Amino acid sequence: MDLDHWLGTAADAIADWQRTFGPYDAYPSAQVSDEQLGTALEALTSRLADNYPFFHPAYAGQMMKPPHPAAVVGYLAAMLINPNNHALDGGPATATMEKEVVGRLAAMFGLRTHLGHLTTSGTIANLEALYVARELHPDRGVAFSSEAHYTHARMCAVLGVPGTAVGADATGRMDLDELDELLARGRIGTVVATPGTTGLGAVDRVDQVLAIARRHGVRVHVDAAYGGFFTLLAGQHGIDPAPWRAIADCDSVVVDPHKHGLQPYGCGAVLFADPAVGRFYLHDSPYTYFTSGDLHLGEISLECSRAGAAAAALWLTFQLLPPTPDGLGRLLAASRRAALGWSGLLTASASLELYQPPELDIVCYFPAERAMSAIDAASARILTDGMTTGAAYLSTLRVTAAALARRHPGIHADQPHARILRSVLMKPEHEAFVPELHARVERLVGS
Ligand SMILES: *Cc1c(COP(=O)(O)O)cnc(C)c1O
Repeated sequence: MDLDHWLGTAADAIADWQRTFGPYDAYPSAQVSDEQLGTALEALTSRLADNYPFFHPAYAGQMMKPPHPAAVVGYLAAMLINPNNHALDGGPATATMEKEVVGRLAAMFGLRTHLGHLTTSGTIANLEALYVARELHPDRGVAFSSEAHYTHARMCAVLGVPGTAVGADATGRMDLDELDELLARGRIGTVVATPGTTGLGAVDRVDQVLAIARRHGVRVHVDAAYGGFFTLLAGQHGIDPAPWRAIADCDSVVVDPHKHGLQPYGCGAVLFADPAVGRFYLHDSPYTYFTSGDLHLGEISLECSRAGAAAAALWLTFQLLPPTPDGLGRLLAASRRAALGWSGLLTASASLELYQPPELDIVCYFPAERAMSAIDAASARILTDGMTTGAAYLSTLRVTAAALARRHPGIHADQPHARILRSVLMKPEHEAFVPELHARVERLVGS
């Protein structure tokens, strides 16, 4: 795909549309010469060289990769107009696209009814879900697992809602017995289940969390910011379908198209199963909502201005790679095979240990040392050496002595925490690159 060509085509199409409104004079002081722009742009691109190569399969660190070229072209085309999806007054076309893509996400999760919208991020999407949780149970708190994303505790504090962390089991999933006991005490109104934790990629048993919650009259919010699109692989590649199928019966779900949906940053989504929760968003805006009596997205979201371009980018991407097993699912399957492939190599390795079997595409591992202090020091050294030599760009995860002992009982717990190595294999290119990546990390251990 020739990105230059398609960016030019998009810009030309928007310029053609602009010309239909008749000529006018651009304000002179806003004009810059090609020479000025050329010089400034050179300075920008040289500064941008100070980045890790997120696009390359040797980058196997955080959940980062460039967007799909189609998303870039879609974003640019809409950005040249710069619609605001707050209201139909600000961008009728992209607001309609947003409703369409949100409908596709709802269908992906099997929601029978929904009310939802895109957000700037997973954090804001979760904030909205927890806000609705508080409005529905103003006198009860929110429970999430100790492995849940850190923003849940933080957003509970923002909302003034008591947040309670439930321990995790030996696989990093929410401990169901502990949850049951907590909910029996009657002080929790909503449980957050995380199918795909940010650290380990552990999949909370949404089905069992849901059964326990319903027994106690408690709501369930699903934080699938990272894991959500893996529902497309449910029942394949060793992915248990039950937690994914249960999302359809939960109360709300968050997914980040800017993680596994091939989008640039600025694209999260929140969906509620009961459209009646829209009443909690009721507000009056003296500035907007005047061109149409139809639903304006700002009427059902906490944010005001939002990039219509984000909806356009996701819409164009879904035309080509829809959120179906044969569309986007094929890319996630490659990531999943990469994780399974690498976990096989790690299991057979003499110098590296697999921390636990990967459930999605996050693989955690550590240098084969006998004490936590040695594991911690070697992991930190490999992280740094990998980045300075360019051999491999990894990330680290801090684990507790108890968590490590549950999985690897022989290790001497001479300190309370240790850093281990963590790789998110979120590019399909990782599948072919895994043997090379493994060899490089093994060499880093020995160096
Ligand atoms: C990334 C992530 C978030 C936060 O989303 P942002 O888009 O980074 O704000 C929340 N929950 C989980 C499980 C995540 O992986």
